[in-house]
Amino acid sequence: MPEKVVIIGSGPAAWTAAIYAARATLQPLVIQGNPFNDTNRVNGTMPLGQLALTTEVENFPSWPAGDTRQYLKTALQADDPDFPYWVASDKPQPTHGINGPELMALMRQQAKNFGTRVESKDVVKVDLQKRPFTVTTHDGETVETLTLIITTGARANYLGLPSEDRFKNKGVSACAVCDGFLPRFREKPIVVVGGGDSALEEASYLTKFASKVHLFVRRDGLRASKIMQERAFANPKIDIRWHLEVDEVLGDDKQGVTAIRAFNNKTKEKNELPAAGLFLAIGHTPNTHFLDGQLETTPLGYVKWTTLGRTYTTVEGVFAAGDVADDYYRQAISSAGTGCSAALDAERYLGHHGLI
Ligand code: NAP
Repeated sequence: MPEKVVIIGSGPAAWTAAIYAARATLQPLVIQGNPFNDTNRVNGTMPLGQLALTTEVENFPSWPAGDTRQYLKTALQADDPDFPYWVASDKPQPTHGINGPELMALMRQQAKNFGTRVESKDVVKVDLQKRPFTVTTHDGETVETLTLIITTGARANYLGLPSEDRFKNKGVSACAVCDGFLPRFREKPIVVVGGGDSALEEASYLTKFASKVHLFVRRDGLRASKIMQERAFANPKIDIRWHLEVDEVLGDDKQGVTAIRAFNNKTKEKNELPAAGLFLAIGHTPNTHFLDGQLETTPLGYVKWTTLGRTYTTVEGVFAAGDVADDYYRQAISSAGTGCSAALDAERYLGHHGLI
């Protein structure tokens, strides 16, 4: 028997869709990604999505303040194979929000509590030409399904310099939370590139470890929200450099990154700046490679929603939610919202076609 609903992804859209589909007795299967795939680690496409790569989330409604430690220990199940090990440790919890990884673990737990099944595999291929649809995972297994919800989000962009590629895992990263604590960055200067919320969040997080964080902004303004800008301007360890771009990442195989050659696009000057690391926070690319062009996408590569206010795609029975289809809002709460819509759309599609 084919599945009724398969959800590919692992962020707020995926788990919200799963909660709704499970409560509608559709027994959803979530394929959350392979935690042991090194490419996922480098690309930031591990289970639990982009929020697993963040620190505090203080704009997700229902987390105003308080000590969440006891709540986490009771809400998450220690005997579950997905139980996040860091919750068992006494890692400090924020007092005015919740940590991104914890928020995601709670969403996954809530989905599981209603009977959602979870597979830790990467989807490498889908066949949307015939029904039921077929989903193929990295181990060669296939799953047939009547409906499909795509919630694979987006991954961090890199600059594309050969020297940047050479030093990935040796000082170049797109995830401060994953790599910032490494000894190579302790009390050393670091360069962060970008001017959005992600860049300011990464820069602020890295000031815990680095002696100085130089923020390279390619023009003379930030794209980030006001509150994040104010925090960055007030942080004495963050040094904002306007009109600066990375010309080359410098270093050697033994030490990794040792300096950044910077290019000032206004004065056209080039200068070397000592740095033990380069962190990129320059936007994202949607994760749609496994679709192999079977769904229409926008000019920027995001899955196209075909009907205003619905999560329909160009293939009937396939729905999209979250950042993979939204290049505009890209918030945890807006992703969760479209995840809910996708589950309701899938349920109505199944009902309309007499499949449930
Ligand atoms: P973003 O808002 O698209 O910002 C990307 C930044 O990178 C921009 O400053 C852009 O410069 C710069 N950039 C792009 N390509 C570049 C290149 N090749 N070289 C140098 N700089 C380059 O992306 P984001 O910061 O990842 O944020 C994405 C979404 O997530 C936003 O909606 C944001 O609000 C949200 N978010 C929210 C939070 C939070 O609320 N705490 C945290 C993180 C992210 P230009 O401005 O010149 O284009």
